[in-house]
Amino acid sequence: MKQEELISIRRELHQIPEIGFEEVKTQNYVKEKIAGMPDNYVTIKEWRTGLLVFVEGHTPSKTIGYRTDMDGLPIKEQTTYSFPSLHEGNMHACGHDLHMTIALGILDHFAHNQPKENLLFIFQPAEEGPGGALPMLQSEVFKQWKPDEIYALHIAPEYPVGTIATRPGLLFANTSELFINLNGIGGHAARPHQANDMVVAASHLVTQLQTIVGRNVDPLDSAVVTIGTIEGGTKQNIIAETARLEGTIRTLSLESMQKVKQRIRGIIQGVETSFDCSATIDWGSTYCQVSNDERLTQAFMNFSEQQKDVHLIECREAMTGEDFGYFLEEIPGTMFWLGVNTPYGLHDARIEPNENAIFTAISHMTAFLSQA
Ligand SMILES: [Zn+2]
Ligand SMILES: [Zn+2]
Repeated sequence: MKQEELISIRRELHQIPEIGFEEVKTQNYVKEKIAGMPDNYVTIKEWRTGLLVFVEGHTPSKTIGYRTDMDGLPIKEQTTYSFPSLHEGNMHACGHDLHMTIALGILDHFAHNQPKENLLFIFQPAEEGPGGALPMLQSEVFKQWKPDEIYALHIAPEYPVGTIATRPGLLFANTSELFINLNGIGGHAARPHQANDMVVAASHLVTQLQTIVGRNVDPLDSAVVTIGTIEGGTKQNIIAETARLEGTIRTLSLESMQKVKQRIRGIIQGVETSFDCSATIDWGSTYCQVSNDERLTQAFMNFSEQQKDVHLIECREAMTGEDFGYFLEEIPGTMFWLGVNTPYGLHDARIEPNENAIFTAISHMTAFLSQA
């Protein structure tokens, strides 16, 4: 594909962000683009709002998977773009528009030049939530074409264009959402003895949650417990009957995740007792760690080091979450960061990734998959 075509694909996808399992227009758009490619040895199948595209190799000894995510986020865009989201309140703020464009670019190359090995292009919905990787892995269509190894990338705002960063072993943390509802008794602000104030209970709870990372997690391990929103009450002179806290948990090991959750349960039971209220916990979407296969990742890094047009960095593990981790639990493979050089982070309403990274990724992955 020509560079102008790739840029227009990215911009058209940017304008139609859809959240998890609602990627109907996105799926149709991708299908239309694939329909414009030669189909002599290409087979396409739908899975919910996702797509699986099988490219038959000429003398295959294995099947290699390449995965992109498809969903946008419920964020109101604040970029300076002339092609902003047309879906008010939704935005591609995590680069999945670039990820899909890159996958289409690589697919287009191999639809014109038959690869030696079989390739499976995976367009996966609902990465941000509720999580599309696990149900897709368990689906019959996926099992039929299950790859022997698998690759994926994620844009990285902090690296310059041309940079690729990864490491063998653990790349991303275990993550879980956290939603807590507290229910007490509302009442008049001047009659606290007749009520049961959930603003006070929530305040104590937030403070106590801070002790988990400080007092319960091994200092040589790492964890994050963040409460991002807190909501309670209805009016300044009414004692709050309910409160809701929303947050996220990140850990570097599955054991720490279990331990953190166990401590949260314990602290909440304590709050229920001390403030005579009732509480519910919902863990929301939980993603397992992204753990790169040692051997394949080392081979990918060796290959990348020899390429003149990319700069390889061996990075540290990060506290981000990615449901690609579920694929890596079952299939050996590699995930890597792709530099897009923007001052704003992932999920920031102002993020404007440098589009030149699309060309870097396509030429790099095309070369890599041709020799893998
Ligand atoms: Zn994201
Ligand atoms: Zn993402």
